[in-house]
This record gives sequence, C-alpha cells and structure tokens, in this order.
Amino acid sequence: MAFVIFIASILTPGALLGAGIGFEDLYAGDITIVIDPGHGGEDTGAVGSNGTEEKNITLSLGLMLKEILKERMGCNVLLTRTEDVFIPLDERTAFANRAGADLFISIHANAAVSREAMGVETFFLSFDATDDDARRIAAFENKVIRVSGSQTPEADDLNLILLDLANTEAHHESSRLAEAVHLSMLKATGKENRGVKQAPFAVLAGATMPAVLVETGFISNPHEEKWLSSKKEQARIAEAIAEGVAGFKKTNGKVIEYSGFREHTKKN
Ligand SMILES: [Zn+2]
Repeated sequence: MAFVIFIASILTPGALLGAGIGFEDLYAGDITIVIDPGHGGEDTGAVGSNGTEEKNITLSLGLMLKEILKERMGCNVLLTRTEDVFIPLDERTAFANRAGADLFISIHANAAVSREAMGVETFFLSFDATDDDARRIAAFENKVIRVSGSQTPEADDLNLILLDLANTEAHHESSRLAEAVHLSMLKATGKENRGVKQAPFAVLAGATMPAVLVETGFISNPHEEKWLSSKKEQARIAEAIAEGVAGFKKTNGKVIEYSGFREHTKKN
C-alpha cells in the first residue's frame, strides 16, 4: 500500500499536489481538510492513570474541530474515523490522498514514562527525528503498524517515501502548518512549549498534502489527563487548532479569517 502511494507520487506529482493550483488560490469552500483522530478500536493509544484512553480524546477533539472548520470556516471536512474503529495508519493518508485533501491533521495525546512530562508538541514528517524524544514518540505512534499485521509496509518502502518527501512542496508547507498550529495551541492553552519537531511518523508518510501531527498534551501526566478529559478544555484545543489552520492560510493569501467565535470567508 505504501509503495503504491510512492509510485503514484512520482508519476503524477502535479495532480496529487493540486495540478499547480496553489492552496492560496482556493476559497474556503474549495478547501478540503482531513482530520485524523489518532488510534481507535483495539488500538487505544496511550492510557492515563485514571483510565483515560487516547483514542477517545482524539475522536472527541476531531469531531469538535470538524464543527469549527466546517460550520464556521466553511471548509470541506472529512474525518478518517467518526467512531471507535480501528483504521490502519497507511489507510488514513491514503484516504486523504483519494479525497484530494488540501491539509491533513492527525490528532494525538502524548505519553512518557515520567508522569511529570507535559506540554504541547507538533510534528511534521521527516526521515530524521529532531531528537531522541521525537524518535521515541514516533516509534510509539508507529507501533500499531506492527500489531495490525496485514497492513505492514516494508521498512524500505517507508524510507523511499521519506526520502522522496524531502523535496516536495508539501513538506515545506507542512512545516509552516505545524508552526501555525503549534503557536496557536500554546497561546490558547498556556501549556509548556515542547516545540515543533520532525520525526518519521508512519501516519504522515505518503501524504501528498501538508500534513501535521499534533500531540495535544500528555495523557500520562495526571494533571494533563484531567485537562484533556474536560469537554470545555477540548473545545479550547479544537479552537486553537482551527485558529492555527486559519493562521497558516492567512500567510498564504488571506483566504480564511479567524476572529474568535465568528468565522467568515472572503475572496481575494
Ligand atoms: Zn497517538
């Protein structure tokens, strides 16, 4: 599956990147955003000391984010899952590619051995991890590939995708999107800044559009587990991610304006 995506990106880069149409040329109604609530089904993701499962937090956040991006910002929004089901990692980006998505946002909650670890970190795909911590997190999030059995991409295929990625426009845009979402998250939540980082995330490999993975907070930290479980705080996080998307767009042609609880679109 992953290898097929790689071949397709060589043969038709124009078509997959929007046939030369810059994202900035699109109106909000023409923008398709795929939101990927991490994990699901048998794959619970990280589990907090009070039993909170990452898969439930990510789904709740994803559904809230969809409402904002769709109802208030006028974007087309698709989710890789809308219920508690297992979806292999490579199918998530394949879905976004098939949908012709302009952006891919994978939502997660973090975990560490230390219960003290806290804060927000936002990732985009890279062959090399920023540091050991980024490498560890990618390894955790990639783990499902191995337990899912039939969908296991060969390591070589993943490496080919990652090497191919270095020169793509989508990769550059991914770093800008990650910066925008990250800054917005920090501003809205006041949480510790763990930085924008790069790591070889399988769920981002093969995406032909700007793609980021947001680690919203640490489920392994009891304080942040409680914070992430609050619907009120989840709404704040969803708002922050949406504002980040709008901020990314703003630097790209002022297609979407974000103004707190009122959102409108305008033509250039
Ligand atoms: Zn996760």
